[in-house]
Amino acid sequence: MSVVSFDRLAVPKHGGTIKPSDKGLLVPDDPIIPYIEGDGIGPEVVLAARKVLDFAVDAAYGGTRRIVWLKVKAGEEAEEDYGELLPKDVFKAIEHFAVALKGPLTTPIGGGFRSLNVALRQHLDLYANVRPIFWVPGVPSPLKEPWKVDLIIFREATEDVYAGIEWARGSPEVEAVRKFLKGEFGVTLGADSGIGVKPISEFASKRLVRKAFRYAIDKGRESVTLVHKGNIMKFTEGAFKQWGYEVAESEFGESVIGEKDLWDKFDGKVPEGKILVKDRLADNMLQQILTRTDEYDIIATTNLNGDYVSDAAAGLVGGLGIAPGANIGDFAALFEPIHGSAPKYAGQNKVNPTAEIFAGTMLLEHLGWDEAASLVRAGVEKAVEAQEVTYDLARKIKGATRVGTKEFAEKVTHFMA
Ligand code: NAP
Repeated sequence: MSVVSFDRLAVPKHGGTIKPSDKGLLVPDDPIIPYIEGDGIGPEVVLAARKVLDFAVDAAYGGTRRIVWLKVKAGEEAEEDYGELLPKDVFKAIEHFAVALKGPLTTPIGGGFRSLNVALRQHLDLYANVRPIFWVPGVPSPLKEPWKVDLIIFREATEDVYAGIEWARGSPEVEAVRKFLKGEFGVTLGADSGIGVKPISEFASKRLVRKAFRYAIDKGRESVTLVHKGNIMKFTEGAFKQWGYEVAESEFGESVIGEKDLWDKFDGKVPEGKILVKDRLADNMLQQILTRTDEYDIIATTNLNGDYVSDAAAGLVGGLGIAPGANIGDFAALFEPIHGSAPKYAGQNKVNPTAEIFAGTMLLEHLGWDEAASLVRAGVEKAVEAQEVTYDLARKIKGATRVGTKEFAEKVTHFMA
């Protein structure tokens, strides 16, 4: 048994530890799950989500399963307590207990971390940023047929322009790189240029695409689309596409079919049990999620494309208050809303906890507790259907009653009962 020692965390005496294994996670009936409340509106939405999840687990398993929550401090409250924004306890807890629920963290301005979230993903090697985008009936949408949106975006999270390799105009590093490029390759860059580096590796691309295919097969999904900008960036984005197809063919050949075969041999109809693999340019993809929404299912893409595509897609189904995400590696997973800490609404019992609640349903599904996850989704759908919603939705739904964060969560549990 691995032994872990924390600086300040008091690990609950009762509760089991989730263990990764070759066959997936080994989950006890009473797993200890760390949670990070986060900054700004974080504590309110995380509390709301925990209450909903606890209720759902109890209801789904008749009291035989429960989550043993372990509070871990990160962000502003960790700064006060530990004197640093991301103490080692945070990394150790997520690694040791294998999953965690997280609220949004405010990005510190100037010095230290570029972003706490990026630091967590990189440190824990949570290389797949997974963002499901689906419509909850009743949530206002700019689409005529929002029920056609059912996407899961697998966004590579460790490299691309997010790797943080960039230098300011006029810096010694830029001068050195300019000189190198000129001397070695005859490439001239203006003296007033900033320079960023976009690394895309075979290893990182393939493991991300592999995760997307495994998920597609496990969950019986219809297609995986590789999204890239390879017409312009051939050796980064183009290589991502090529490596993606290599994974599809060499590792999942029995289960997938390409677009050419689909039309040449099957008249455009995907054979039973096969997953269609296709690729689209990122700019085209942004258009196609609007015009041919239901032709897309799972999307696997590079870091920056994934950021754009997932935010655009989230806008189709009700925006930031709704959309959850997960950061998943081989050994740990962190579940959080896509939205930030919205400091102007902190402490007002005002914002929508749905994105955090849905982050919780992703966590439950990750544990294999699908029954509880389904209960939560149904509870949210019924609460929205009853038109008792937080300000963000109330302002768009005619005749809706506006409720607070806490009251919305109570409504959700009421509808699960
Ligand atoms: P934000 O916190 O996401 O808020 C932007 C706007 O989105 C809010 O003003 C609000 O819009 C809407 N919104 C966000 N969460 C909502 C919720 N739960 N319910 C209803 N509406 C919601 O973005 P930001 O103001 O740009 O960022 C604030 C801080 O959060 C920054 O430090 C940023 O770096 C950080 N951040 C953290 C994460 C993370 O931890 N994963 C992610 C993104 C940003 P209206 O005012 O129009 O109603």
